Amino acid sequence: MKNFKLSSGKEIPAIGYGTFRIPNESVNELILEALRAGYTHIDTASYYENETGIGQALSECDKNRSDLFITTKVWNEEIRNRKIKESCSESLEKLKTDYIDLLLYHWPVGNIIETWKDFEYLKKEGLVKHIGVSNFKEHHLDTLLKNCEIKPEINQIECHPLLNQKNLREYCNSKGILVSAWSGFMAGELLTNKELLSIGKRYKKTIAQIILRWNFQHNIITLPKSSSENRMRENLDIFDFHLSEEDMYYIDSMNRDQRCGPDPDFINF
Ligand code: NDP
Repeated sequence: MKNFKLSSGKEIPAIGYGTFRIPNESVNELILEALRAGYTHIDTASYYENETGIGQALSECDKNRSDLFITTKVWNEEIRNRKIKESCSESLEKLKTDYIDLLLYHWPVGNIIETWKDFEYLKKEGLVKHIGVSNFKEHHLDTLLKNCEIKPEINQIECHPLLNQKNLREYCNSKGILVSAWSGFMAGELLTNKELLSIGKRYKKTIAQIILRWNFQHNIITLPKSSSENRMRENLDIFDFHLSEEDMYYIDSMNRDQRCGPDPDFINF
């Protein structure tokens, strides 16, 4: 596994195991499989309602806590009600851990400036090693950066070849914020794309691997979700080839600003 560097100098694995829509009842076994396959970075959220099962797997596995990178997120309702500290305590308890590696502000709702103070508090207390945001556009980040004491280290956003977020990524890079891509396969929709298939054939790689490699070469963390051990392994097998400049450019040019998830400026949840 390759790592990227956070602005604090600490490292984060370039690929994490995504757990959205994995029910609590099945997540335990899948996390153990993912750890066996080589994942050390796990992405969850209080909203996914699977932190208990993940915590169970973490306590059963043979890994040291310090070798794992666990991300969770604070949901909108808790943000609107200023229950950030309570949400973090609940996540810590469910995940059976005494610290969270990365705590994310899930969507830009509520009062960004006041909410962020609670994130800063949790980091200062050592309950959270790194703090970041998710689904923040440039104007949300502008508000935050002008008023914060501790800068977010990550912005986790929808990002894939049909929504490559070039401008937002450049903005984040200029502020020392690492970008993490959610729904990197458009929740599976992109995995039959003919253009990506023909690029993959030339490298003897699958569409999933071409997308993951394109992200990696752009310095973007990806969080592929899979419920199959073979596909989990396939999604980690991207470090033995290099996409040419032409192919990177070609995939960049596939952008259509096409979302599969909600636009953060127009959410109703
Ligand atoms: P992905 O884009 O990762 O796609 C997952 C789908 O792709 C599943 O149907 C999976 O099927 C399939 N798949 C995975 N690998 C392969 C492969 N190698 N070959 C063929 N099919 C494959 O979807 P998600 O929407 O889950 O996004 C990834 C993660 O991002 C989430 O799990 C979550 O952690 C995070 N996320 C964060 C959000 C935020 O607001 N911050 C919002 C949404 C997601 P199968 O399981 O059968 O392999």
